[in-house]
Amino acid sequence: MAIYLDHNASTPVDPRVFDAMLPYFREEFGNPNSVHARGAVARRAIDRARAQVADLVNIDSGWVNFTASATEAVNTAVWSAFMLRSRQGCRVVVTAVEHAAVFEAARGLERFGIDVVTVPVAKSGSLDIDVLRCAMTDNVFLVAVMWANNETGVVFPIRAVADLCSERGVPLLVDAVQAAGRLDIELGALPVTYVALSSHKLYGPKGGGALIGSPRSIVPLVRGGGQEGGRRSGTENVAAVVGFGEAAFLARVEGNERNVATEALRNAFEKQLLNAVVACDVNGAEATRLTNTSSITIQGVDGDALVGMLDALGICISTGSACHSRSVIPSHVILAMTGSHKRATETVRVSFSHLNTAADIDILLRGLKQAVAALRAAR
Ligand code: PLP
Repeated sequence: MAIYLDHNASTPVDPRVFDAMLPYFREEFGNPNSVHARGAVARRAIDRARAQVADLVNIDSGWVNFTASATEAVNTAVWSAFMLRSRQGCRVVVTAVEHAAVFEAARGLERFGIDVVTVPVAKSGSLDIDVLRCAMTDNVFLVAVMWANNETGVVFPIRAVADLCSERGVPLLVDAVQAAGRLDIELGALPVTYVALSSHKLYGPKGGGALIGSPRSIVPLVRGGGQEGGRRSGTENVAAVVGFGEAAFLARVEGNERNVATEALRNAFEKQLLNAVVACDVNGAEATRLTNTSSITIQGVDGDALVGMLDALGICISTGSACHSRSVIPSHVILAMTGSHKRATETVRVSFSHLNTAADIDILLRGLKQAVAALRAAR
C-alpha cells in the first residue's frame, strides 16, 4: 500500500462524505431546478450544503456560490472585479507566490490592457504589509492574496491585508483553498470581497468549489439557465455539492483535532529529518505555517528525481503545486522566497493528514535517507 503524503494536492473523500453523496447518484437523482418532489429533494440538499459551507467560514449562506473548482471561483472573481472596476482601474496586484489559478486568471486580462503587478515576499515566505501598501496605486482594481501557501504552508496576515484594501476601497480576492478547515476563518468580521474554496482539499469530492462573495459583486462567467441566482449557470452537480457541504461540516467540527494530529506528525518528521540528513532545511520555518505542510530543500538533490525515487518505493510526495508536478518548471514559490533557481529545483513538499501515522513517517524517513544517499552518490 502506498503511503500518501501529498494532501495539499488532494485528500481522500471521507467515508461519511461518500455516504452522504451516494443517494444523489441513485434514488435522489432529480434536477434541483425541477418543480416536482424529486427536484425539491435535490434543492433542499443544495440549500443544506450551502449552509454547511457558510458555517465553515462564518458568512451568510447567501454569499456562497457553488462552482466546479476553486480555479473557476478565482476566475469568476477576477472577471467580476474587471467588469465592475471604475474607469481608472487598470491594475491587478498579486503576491509572487499565488497559485497558477490566480496568476493565469489575472494574466488573462493583459489582452485588455490590464497590468499585473507582482508583490515580492520575504525570504521566510511571509508578506510585508508595507510592501503591499506601496504597490497599491490609485489605479488598482483588485488585490489577490492567498490565505495560506500550498507549497510552504506559510500563512499571510489576511486581517491586515483586508483592512488595507478596505481603507483604500479596493476589492480583495483571498484564495483560501489551503486555509479552509485548517485555520479559523471568520469572514463575517473581515472586509474581503471574494474568497475561493475547494472541496477536494478538505476530504470532499473533486469537482466542488465555491466563490464566497456578495451577489452584487459577482458577474457570471458561465451564463445560461440562471442557476446559483444567475451567478453560475448549469445544472448543479448535486452529489459534489452535498459532499462539499458534509466535508465542510466535518472540517468545522474536527478541524482542531486534525491540526493537533498533523502538527505532531509534521514536527516529528522535520526534527528527525534535520538530524538524519545533512545540508537540508525547511522553507518558511520562521513564519507562521499551516500545521500539516513541510517544504524541504535538500542540497545537491534534484526534487523531481527524489519524488520519482520515493514514488518507486510507494511513497507519494511532490515538488510543489500539483498542476506543475508533471513538468520541470522549478517552484516559483521557492524562487520568489530565495531568488535561487538551484534551490527551487532542490525542494520537495510533504503534506500530512490526520490520517497519517508515526509509522508512515518512519517509512518516509527511511526512504528519504536511501534516496538522498543514492542521488548524492550519483552526482
Ligand atoms: N489555490 C490553491 C492555493 C491551491 O492549492 C489549489 C489547488 O492545488 C487551487 C487554488 C486550485 O483548486 P482546484 O483544484 O479546486 O481548482
